[in-house]
Amino acid sequence: MPKIQMTDLKAQYETIKSEIDAAIQSVITESSFILGKQVDLLEQEIAGYIGVKYAIGVASGTDALVLSLAALDIKEGDEIITTPFTFIATAEAISRVGAKPAFCDIDRDTYNIDADKIEAKITPKTKAIIPVHLYGMPCEMDKIMAVAKKHNLKVIEDCAQSFGSAFKGRKVGSIGDCGALSFFPAKTLGCYGDGGMVVTGEEETAKRIKMLRNHGSTAKYHYSVHGFNSRLDTLQAAILRVKLKYIDTWIAKRIENARYYNELLQGLSPKGTVPAESGAPNHPIGLGAYFNLQGTVPEYKHAFNYYTIRIKKNRDLVQERLGANNIACGIYYPLSLHLQEVYQGLGYKKGDFPLSEEAQDEVLSLPMYPELTSGQIQAVVSVIREALA
Ligand SMILES: *Cc1c(COP(=O)(O)O)cnc(C)c1O
Repeated sequence: MPKIQMTDLKAQYETIKSEIDAAIQSVITESSFILGKQVDLLEQEIAGYIGVKYAIGVASGTDALVLSLAALDIKEGDEIITTPFTFIATAEAISRVGAKPAFCDIDRDTYNIDADKIEAKITPKTKAIIPVHLYGMPCEMDKIMAVAKKHNLKVIEDCAQSFGSAFKGRKVGSIGDCGALSFFPAKTLGCYGDGGMVVTGEEETAKRIKMLRNHGSTAKYHYSVHGFNSRLDTLQAAILRVKLKYIDTWIAKRIENARYYNELLQGLSPKGTVPAESGAPNHPIGLGAYFNLQGTVPEYKHAFNYYTIRIKKNRDLVQERLGANNIACGIYYPLSLHLQEVYQGLGYKKGDFPLSEEAQDEVLSLPMYPELTSGQIQAVVSVIREALA
């Protein structure tokens, strides 16, 4: 059997080859490679899609976070509350502007920052919160915004894994002060290299990010602040404009695939704890003795950048069996950020965030992409079933 990958970018390219090739060719024909029309148009289209006034293309998702923090005047001495169960870039961006990550444990079912634990982490130095919509699952944004408002904190949504996800009908990225998007190839909306974008409803913030991405320039060869060289390539913008047309169909496919996984995996939960079908695209899934399929409720639209299950016992064995059967899988993420060598200086220790540490030892992400077939999903689940038999 051919390998089942985590995501199959080649299969997707084959479905839109002629449009992508034409888009790339037209940028080269025009030979305008930095910013310009394609970037402007993509910014307008993504702002419309997310439901915000402004979108600013930058060089990566990491830079989208760094520039957002810089634009909101976060600097040395400030503390930013975030989750320890995320990709390093979230905390790295905080450190990059000289501020300090203050970690807050996660919710057991959603893997996202526990909104009810945030307030206890606030100190006089706290300036902002970075909720991360992990795997595509939206955070509890109403609670997070209420805490932020009460304590006058900024909110930067890390939407790197959640393009197209929505909380109570609002797209993620449109709820906080800024949203940081990543177009890294493996993300739900990926380009053919690195790329990112900041979305915001605030004119002043948008202006500052535009200035920061281009060396702090206000007019050609006039600089008012220390900036960055962090622009979205015109070529990537042209590719993304093609892919954006298909994104809702592709997300619907991801959700369909997640539901099929849920259906097939339900039988493996020995306690039968899966609640009845709610009719929503993603229905709530409870804790099983072996599995906790990422819990969702109907008002959360989960776009499934990743499909992640929890295996209480024998995760290593399942991983090994999948590998032996030519099926990819991934652990996002095997070591919580408070336990990373780079953050030793912050003084955290093992046991500080028990739910994040439990998740790091139990999560397993399975192949997930729009072109994944039901036959492939059946093959993945049957290997898991055999491994745990
Ligand atoms: C991918 C990712 C980023 C960084 O995006 P890049 O485009 O790779 O720089 C930030 N945060 C999270 C949660 C991510 O998954």
